[in-house]
Amino acid sequence: MLAITGLLLPFSSALGQKIRHEIQFPDLPGYQTLKCDLHMHTVFSDGNVWPTVRVDEAWRQGLDVISITDHIEYQPHKDDVPTNHNRPYELAAGDAESHGLMLLRGAEITRDTPPGHFNAIFLQDVNPLDTPEFLEAVKAANQQDAFVFWNHQGWKGEEKGRWMDVHTTMFEGKMFQGMEVCNGETYYPTAHRWCLEKNLTMLGNSDIHDPGLLRQSTSSNHRTITLIFAKERTPESVKEALLAGRTVVWYKDQLIGRSEYLEGLFHGAVKVRQPIVRRGRNVWLQIANGCSADVELIRSGGNGPQSMTLPACTTALVRFSTATPETPLDLQYMATNLLVAPETGLPVKLEVGPPSGS
Ligand code: ZN
Repeated sequence: MLAITGLLLPFSSALGQKIRHEIQFPDLPGYQTLKCDLHMHTVFSDGNVWPTVRVDEAWRQGLDVISITDHIEYQPHKDDVPTNHNRPYELAAGDAESHGLMLLRGAEITRDTPPGHFNAIFLQDVNPLDTPEFLEAVKAANQQDAFVFWNHQGWKGEEKGRWMDVHTTMFEGKMFQGMEVCNGETYYPTAHRWCLEKNLTMLGNSDIHDPGLLRQSTSSNHRTITLIFAKERTPESVKEALLAGRTVVWYKDQLIGRSEYLEGLFHGAVKVRQPIVRRGRNVWLQIANGCSADVELIRSGGNGPQSMTLPACTTALVRFSTATPETPLDLQYMATNLLVAPETGLPVKLEVGPPSGS
């Protein structure tokens, strides 16, 4: 009996508790900020894990929404794992529900290049996409009201860095709505520019194939994800937000997106704290950064330190001197790692009120 209890106990405690490390980004006014990875693989195509493992990893790493997007046309494990395009979703759905993780049914349309690879998510059934003609496959996704995006533009092939006729056909036919600006370890400035020019939704995803061994997402070490600003935590709201382009990509030490959403994140996360101390020309200022990304600032105005790094989830105490007698002081900066366009940071302003007690 004792031996049996001894064997069972470690198992029951291991099964009873799991730890999730939250990723911190503020909600925007009227919107919840959801952390999403909409491109990943399992043994049902060329990945190296069972579908339920993707749920477990994503939950532990603080994600809210995932889509398993196995290749339809590339199934290197098919001698061992039968081709069944809907099976990864079905296998992962129960675990996703028990973890409170939103799982979207998806697939990767993987044709020879050009045109390149496209993900379709919010599918009802993946099988109609398994059809020989590329545009027919995309249309089959469109018929299911899927959200379709162009993956890792610039990865390889003739279409690398090029917008070709087939892309014009698809764009003009409203057959896809977004692009990966970042995929895994790579940033595609061309895709970034096209998203701005053509009003396509910006996405960043891991495209993970191997087990995700990361325990905790940090500013310098995290998977590439998309922050989606959704009215509610439902698949319908996530789709609405994607169609409206309400996203920011978290890639390495950068946040990439439209200025209105980056501004919302910045002002939700970065706060000037009391007390503000002023002695003669010297000002002591505490600046809190409540988000999981470091914020890098370079001065663009007349007041404040030349540059500041606000590390993730910390408060920085900075001192500077100013000849300006009046308060409030406006500190004008460029947030160099919040990209509104390739190599273009976000202009920001920190308002410093009067010193405490004055
Ligand atoms: Zn992929």
